[in-house]
Amino acid sequence: MKRLNKTLLTLSLTGALVIGGTSFTSPVVNAVGNGPNYNGNEQVNTSILKTYDEMVNFLEKQEAKQDQMELEVIGQSMKGRDLYLVKYISNPDNPTILYLTQQHGNEQLTTEGALEFIKHLGTGKTKGILDNLNVLIVPMLNPDGAMGDVDFDLDDYIADGDRHLTRYNAVGEDLNRDHVNKIFPETQALHNNVLSEYDIDYMIDLHHQGAQSERDGELVSGSILYPTTENADPEVVHKSKQLGAVVFDEIDPTGWGHLGKYNGGSAETISRNGIAVEYGISTLLFEMRGMSDHFYDSYVLGQKSNGYLIKQTVNTLEVTARAISDGSIHDKDVAFWDTLQTQTTRTAE
Ligand SMILES: [Zn+2]
Repeated sequence: MKRLNKTLLTLSLTGALVIGGTSFTSPVVNAVGNGPNYNGNEQVNTSILKTYDEMVNFLEKQEAKQDQMELEVIGQSMKGRDLYLVKYISNPDNPTILYLTQQHGNEQLTTEGALEFIKHLGTGKTKGILDNLNVLIVPMLNPDGAMGDVDFDLDDYIADGDRHLTRYNAVGEDLNRDHVNKIFPETQALHNNVLSEYDIDYMIDLHHQGAQSERDGELVSGSILYPTTENADPEVVHKSKQLGAVVFDEIDPTGWGHLGKYNGGSAETISRNGIAVEYGISTLLFEMRGMSDHFYDSYVLGQKSNGYLIKQTVNTLEVTARAISDGSIHDKDVAFWDTLQTQTTRTAE
């Protein structure tokens, strides 16, 4: 009976999309923000997401193909999985950006997007971008959570498929609350072998948030925020805001993208704040809409949005790399932050 209801609801949703599809300006068709929703009536299957082993295989193949790319193991997860750093260092004097994905294991589309970006760096698609920029990428910092290989029960998680994905690491701890004490091997690998090792100017920390956040009455495709601890250097924060301006100007006007300001706190246990203070790195948090799996219905997003969200990630990485490489980031006006609305959560009808 439950399955029948699902089918009927999916059919009626599809019908609505076809009617809306007659107009290109229809937000129903174009905006991730008004795209498909889980709500128990759309398919969410984790088998379409790359496994950890598939990711490693992909990275090794790209390294063999790409002269400029270097793959390094920076440590191991609690369950012994190698953690990877992808490096493109053309000149140590160039500015350097770090892209970090999947500190939270159930926020996987950011990793899928980062892998696509890595592929582009090996082709003509991003020609010239690496001449004046070093790129570091840490994909899937929490592979145990991403593979559901954890010491706690995931039976109440929603998604179908070969595995469940969870936010937490193998012992149920949140890596993005560990950036001061650095207790866990995943966080230690990032700090000891990446953040302390390279002269990094910028970082984007990529996540997924719940599926019901909205700005100006429309569900968002994501939200962004700079460091908000008072201990961060004002110049570091200004450059973070410029990084955010590059992202906003790329994504928000697309029609399918709609960004809000993330409602985040000042705790330095979180990478956005802690890494800005400890290393003087200009950080940006980017939270994409909806998670790949969760026990909480309103956090999970149906997989029909995957293409847009991966594209949102790829475009974000490419445009920020380009803006730092050609220096245009330094001309970015940060005034939009003063009027960008903080997202709110849509309440169930
Ligand atoms: Zn997250």
